[in-house]
Amino acid sequence: MSRILIVEDEESIAELEKDYLELSNFEVEIATDGKSGLERALAEDFDLFILDIMLPEIDGFELCSRIREVKDAPILMVSARKDDIDKIRGLGLGADDYITKPFSPSELLARVKAHLGRYDRLIGRQARQNEILQIRGLKIDSTARRVWVNGEEKTLTNKEFDLLHFLASNPNHVYTKEELFRNIWGMESVGDVATVTVHIKKIREKIELNLSKPQYIETIWGVGYRFRM
Ligand code: CA
Repeated sequence: MSRILIVEDEESIAELEKDYLELSNFEVEIATDGKSGLERALAEDFDLFILDIMLPEIDGFELCSRIREVKDAPILMVSARKDDIDKIRGLGLGADDYITKPFSPSELLARVKAHLGRYDRLIGRQARQNEILQIRGLKIDSTARRVWVNGEEKTLTNKEFDLLHFLASNPNHVYTKEELFRNIWGMESVGDVATVTVHIKKIREKIELNLSKPQYIETIWGVGYRFRM
C-alpha cells in the first residue's frame, strides 16, 4: 500500500483529501504545519508528498526543496494562487506537479495515481515482485526458482534450473552445447559439454509430456538446443 503525506494547515481540506485518497486504499498521514511536515517527511517512509504552499513555520516552497534534497518520491504542490505555479516552475524546487485550489478530489486522485505509477516504474517496484515466465503449460518463477508443469510443481537441481531458465529466457535462439556450458557452468568449470546433454535429458524428463516429441526444448541436430516459444 502506498503511503502519502499531506502537509496542509487547513484541516477541512486536509481531511477531504485524506478521505478521498483512503477510499482508493492509500494510507494517508497529515501534518498541519511545515515544520512537523518536514520532520515526518524525513523521518518516515512516504511514497508521495502533497504540499500546500501557504503554511505556518516553513512554507511549501522551502519544504519541497528540503524534502527533495533527500527524498526521490513524487511531490505534488497545492496552491491557492495561480502565480505560485510560475514560482514552482521557476525555482526548480524539484516538485513533480502542481494543482491549484479549488480542485476536485478526483483530479487530485488522478494525479496521485499517475505520479505513483511513474515512480514505481522508475524505482522498479514491479521488479521486486516475482518474475514469472509462462510458456504454455510451463511456469518458471525466476525469483523463487520454482517450476510448474500444468500446475504441478517440479523439483529441479540448481544447474537444471539455470539451464532451463536461460533457454526459456532466450526463446527461439539456437545455442550450441559449448555456449550453454559456458553460460551455465562458466569457463573455469571442470566438466565438458556432455554435461549439457545430460542436464537437458533430465530437464526434459521433468517438463516434457512426450520425450520423443519435446514441446519446450528442441534439439537442433548438429548444432545444439532451442527453446520453442
Ligand atoms: Ca495553507
